[in-house]
Amino acid sequence: MANINVKHKQNVAGSWYCTDPDDDDGEGCIACSVCYMGAPEFFAEDDNGNAYVKKQPRTPDEISLCQEQLEACPVNSIGSNG
Ligand code: SF4
Repeated sequence: MANINVKHKQNVAGSWYCTDPDDDDGEGCIACSVCYMGAPEFFAEDDNGNAYVKKQPRTPDEISLCQEQLEACPVNSIGSNG
C-alpha cells in the first residue's frame, strides 16, 4: 500500500496520488516510467522523472486504467485512498 503520508507535492487533489520519492522510509517512486507511459492522461513525470497524478480518474474505464498502473508499479508508489 502506498504511503499516504508522503504524497508527491504535484499531485492534483483527489483520492489518487503518487508518493514522494524522498520519503523518510526510503520508499517511493523510482522513476520507472510505467505509470506515465501506460496512462499519460492521468500520470506525469516531474523534473526528476518521478511520477505524480495530474488528473483524477472519474469514469469506470479511467479508474480501471489507473488501477492497472497501481498494480504494475514495482514499489507500491501509487495510492487510491487519499
Ligand atoms: S510506476 Fe511507480 S515507480 Fe514507476 S514511475 Fe509510476 S509511480 Fe514511479
